Amino acid sequence: MTRLLIIGPPGSGKGTQAVHIAKHFSIPTVSTGEIFRTNASEETPLGLEAAKYLDDGAFVPDDLTNALVKDRLRDVDVQPGFLLDGYPRTAPQVMELDNMLASLGHRLDAVVELRAPDSELERRMIQRAKEQGRKDDTVEVFRRRLDLYHRETHEVVAVYAGRGIVVSVDGSGEPRAITERAIAAVEKFLKAGVTP
Ligand code: ADP
Repeated sequence: MTRLLIIGPPGSGKGTQAVHIAKHFSIPTVSTGEIFRTNASEETPLGLEAAKYLDDGAFVPDDLTNALVKDRLRDVDVQPGFLLDGYPRTAPQVMELDNMLASLGHRLDAVVELRAPDSELERRMIQRAKEQGRKDDTVEVFRRRLDLYHRETHEVVAVYAGRGIVVSVDGSGEPRAITERAIAAVEKFLKAGVTP
């Protein structure tokens, strides 16, 4: 019964870490970015709408994103627990998630915040652009996403910090070491309620 959320700037390795952390806790990941990208490549109505924003590095409108998550959180496989990756990203999304969880009788246990300096994020993004060719991995779009992260998502972290459930993890260095650090920090928090 673990309900987690992972937050981190673009290039922080959030998606990769989400997969490993979720595996450790035996819970599914719910990644809004991934759902949007899959839909965009399959050219579903949701995907075609989302692609307008994705390609520019802008946020998909809240109503579309909220509806998508609301639907997904009703699925059977996420009832025992989940790790949300990429949602909520704005203050209104935090409120929506609060409502969704309350109506399901659930609450979040911890929020993992991955931190890394902007210079390292940009270096990694350039590397990922070469390897994966994601459409939103160009320097210009990346900077826009990073800027949005600092402006909007900062507030999201602040809200959860106010509730005392943020576990900050140093996101620099090797992916494996970051995973170990993150898992250890979350385990410690879940056991003792102590934020490292
Ligand atoms: P990153 O963290 O590297 O920006 P994500 O895969 O989390 O990558 O998100 C990719 C894109 O998907 C975002 O730039 C945005 O367009 C869209 N997106 C994902 N999650 C949300 C969300 N919660 N609200 C609005 N847009 C979102």
